[in-house]
Amino acid sequence: MTAQIISGTEIAKQIREELRQEIIQLRTKHNLVPGLATIVVGGDPASLVYVGLKERAAKDLEIYSQRHDLPVSITKKDLLSLIDQLNKNPRINGILVQLPLPQHINETDIVCAIDPRKDVDGCHPANVGKLMIGEPDFLPCTPHGIQELLVRSGIETEGMEIVVVGRSNIVGKPIASILLQKQVGANATVTVCHSQTRDLASHTKRADILIIAAGRPKVITADMVKEGVVVIDVGVNRIGESASGKGILVGDVNFDTVKEKAKAITPVPGGVGPMTIAMLMMNTVRAAKMTIGIA
Ligand code: NDP
Repeated sequence: MTAQIISGTEIAKQIREELRQEIIQLRTKHNLVPGLATIVVGGDPASLVYVGLKERAAKDLEIYSQRHDLPVSITKKDLLSLIDQLNKNPRINGILVQLPLPQHINETDIVCAIDPRKDVDGCHPANVGKLMIGEPDFLPCTPHGIQELLVRSGIETEGMEIVVVGRSNIVGKPIASILLQKQVGANATVTVCHSQTRDLASHTKRADILIIAAGRPKVITADMVKEGVVVIDVGVNRIGESASGKGILVGDVNFDTVKEKAKAITPVPGGVGPMTIAMLMMNTVRAAKMTIGIA
């Protein structure tokens, strides 16, 4: 079996075009332009790349965009003060603080300072709680992107055995929570594995759908999956030598061998990554619509 390649690049493009139309409607019918503020602290190269991509996507959709590049030495008090200003700014509907933050700033304190109605990353405890009870305002971007990939690729989740590898607050736990909801595009039987799981392969081999977010290059090999599995590879790892000097980008799955057994699989790059950005744009549009009661 050679797998269907699920292109996150293509699906994200389709979502952006839908959003473009929605944004035009908001502007012409409601005189409303969604606004997104991004905050990046310090010069971590990966964070700068991610924020750059998010800013570019917002500009392309004519979302009003503000970018705040802050020095690594910024105090927690000053960062909280910026968030307070953005919370009060009516032009800003969404606030994204790029994580990780420097060690002297507690991330939870910062996330909790964002107005939950502007929490387009879906990380505020109020939004995490709403997700748990199946009444979300904002789904976190990467897990939401994964669900959209499945739904838009026609992959049935209802009643399926879904195994998630990874239990982080930004990927593993929320995707597990989303997929076990009693809803269309969910309704799965979900197992969550992590670094303390005994005999990982005994779980992954049962999966109809395997979602892997471990951040370990090629940790999933062909002998760990069953024939006909659907594989969503969230991992982003750089290994070995490349012309750019940054290493080669690979996922958490040994793509070349696993694709021979899988029914469908996402590539890295071009799988989950573009979806994360598209979902941030979707949440920003939703946040704007919520201000006029049409979301
Ligand atoms: P974290 O490091 O926060 O979490 C990794 C999880 O994987 C942990 O729960 C850890 O277990 C588990 N784990 C690690 N090694 C193993 C192993 N050998 N077997 C089983 N479980 C293991 O990572 P994130 O969730 O933030 O990200 C995961 C990956 O996804 C990274 O490569 C990241 O770059 C990528 N990512 C990609 C995004 C995208 O848009 N494409 C967005 C976000 C992340 P334990 O809890 O016990 O430590």
